[in-house]
Formats: sequence, structure tokens, C-alpha cells
Amino acid sequence: MSNATTVERDELTDEMLNEVCGEVAIGSLTYLPADVLAAVDPIAYRVTVNEYRDSLCSDGMHGEPETDDELGRCTWCGTPRTEIEAGE
Ligand SMILES: [Zn+2]
Repeated sequence: MSNATTVERDELTDEMLNEVCGEVAIGSLTYLPADVLAAVDPIAYRVTVNEYRDSLCSDGMHGEPETDDELGRCTWCGTPRTEIEAGE
């Protein structure tokens, strides 16, 4: 795979994909669905990550800040944490 596109993996999305989808079998080989999606269609993988994060935010499970710049805000939807806490 000389021209393989690499995509940044998201652990939460990988877990969800591997739980929801069964292993992908090709002949006697099996692969994890998250690995298959990321390798075969990196764009669809990114879309899946974004959609999954959106759904988590909608459910009130916002992302933890990863950098100092993002302190106080959900890293995924940008909602200030004060607002998140007030809404709960
Ligand atoms: Zn959020």
C-alpha cells in the first residue's frame, strides 16, 4: 500500500465501531471494523468520528480539553464547560 492515506484514529469511535459492527472476514482472515474503515475509506472514518462526537455531545457527554487553549471548552463542539455544567 504505497499510497495509503493515514488518518488520525479516535479511540472512542474505534471502540464504538468494533462493538457495533462485527469483525470483517475475508477468507480465513478477520479484521476489526474500525481498522478496516480507517484503511479503506479514511474520509468516511473522519465523518464517522465527527458524527459520533456530535451524538455524544447531544447526550451531554462532552470531550475533555486536550490543550491549555481549550481549557474550559468541549474540544468537540466548543461549548463552554460552565454552560455544560449549568445545563445539567
Ligand atoms: Zn461537546
